[in-house]
Amino acid sequence: MRLSRFFLPILKENPKEAEIVSHRLMLRAGMIRQEAAGIYAWLPLGFRVLKKIEQIVREEQDRAGALELLMPTLQLADLWRESGRYDAYGPEMLRIADRHKRELLYGPTNEEMITEIFRAFVKSYRSLPLNLYHIQWKFRDEQRPRFGVMRGREFLMKDAYSFDIDEAAARRAYNRMFVAYLRTFARMGLKAIPMRAETGPIGGDLSHEFIVLAETGESGVYCDKDVLDLPIPADDVDYEGDLSPIIKQWTSVYAATEDVHDAARFETEVPADKRLHTRGIEVGQIFYFGTKYSDSMKALVAGPDGVDVPIHGGSYGVGVSRLAGAIIEACHDDAGIKWPEAVAPFRATILNLKQGDAAVDGACEKLYAELTAKGVDVLYDDTDQRAGAKFAGADLIGIPWQILVGPKGLAEGKVEVKRRADGSRENMSPADVVARLSG
Ligand code: ATP
Ligand code: MG
Repeated sequence: MRLSRFFLPILKENPKEAEIVSHRLMLRAGMIRQEAAGIYAWLPLGFRVLKKIEQIVREEQDRAGALELLMPTLQLADLWRESGRYDAYGPEMLRIADRHKRELLYGPTNEEMITEIFRAFVKSYRSLPLNLYHIQWKFRDEQRPRFGVMRGREFLMKDAYSFDIDEAAARRAYNRMFVAYLRTFARMGLKAIPMRAETGPIGGDLSHEFIVLAETGESGVYCDKDVLDLPIPADDVDYEGDLSPIIKQWTSVYAATEDVHDAARFETEVPADKRLHTRGIEVGQIFYFGTKYSDSMKALVAGPDGVDVPIHGGSYGVGVSRLAGAIIEACHDDAGIKWPEAVAPFRATILNLKQGDAAVDGACEKLYAELTAKGVDVLYDDTDQRAGAKFAGADLIGIPWQILVGPKGLAEGKVEVKRRADGSRENMSPADVVARLSG
């Protein structure tokens, strides 16, 4: 992509409305545009990141055996009356009427709808276990939308729903999602710690929130520092096998949100020098809620003995759009964003430091063509801006590899490669750059 043809509305000034760094940087880097309180348009740079995050979430859900579908954003109010949540949900629910005065709502979550789909088709325990998920926009009329995409009103969520014949099987489904979440966030370059959590309006008695530690987070958390160093399951983890040793390893070290924190236990279990009380960002939450929805909505299947029983359910959310902000909170410096490679909008950027110089232009064009041919996603800054402005822009938008092409280096057959993550620099020939980045 040539920057001269791209749509990247960078802001020079710090936007006044942004209270936290990720919101500020997303606005400054031209990633998002606020269209109404808590409602954002994703501009091309931001949209690329959102798609990368979404794809990692998808791949790890698929690997864990969940099946993707897509449910609509609008739902019938009557469906929510069945579960009793239509009145219980309160003012956070956006209620809408169509031209026939039929009551609809913009879905804040999908337990009711997925239960309705399930009960329409699944009649026997033989079809279980089943885990269905989608990645869809949600609407919650938050009292205080703030921090940009971190607490929006319209936001993108991955939500999965598991169906099992009994509690033991449902706990295995829960464990699969637990492991999938560990892998998902680690692949994005994040340390997201599973912490015991309250279940809230979803219901049930077993839940973990996955929390990225950050001072700007909205959740207070308590944990044993040892939890920060536990190993992430590898990509060949056997989801058909027994995952309970992994779950045990992660849940036997103290980690809890303040809602369920047990001060006495914390002090007996965790040595003083390992106690951590800080704040964090909730990037995902998983729940086991038993037969809550299958009882009220009559989702029954025939068990092995032919008798109908209510299924045991769980639901599993990931804040896909919130993650874009959370990753920036974890990966930035004073100059801007430092994207982890896996979610970066482009892998590399070429900075032409003397636009109009035949040798420099020629070298940049050649590099751009070769990298593109090798399938490397590259943003070529071919604009007329000064070199200083190009450096600042590249640091702001945070692309992992910057390739600086100027007349001095070229005279010696070299370009400079700067790694945004640590600022390290190396001179090498254009051919070596292509080999390095396409390897
Ligand atoms: P919170 O406590 O932050 O309000 P929640 O517990 O109500 O979130 P869940 O129902 O668990 O949210 O939704 C699953 C995930 O969706 C959350 O873990 C979070 O990452 C994301 N999420 C929830 N609300 C918002 C929001 N208003 N804006 C952006 N992401 C959100
Ligand atoms: Mg939650």
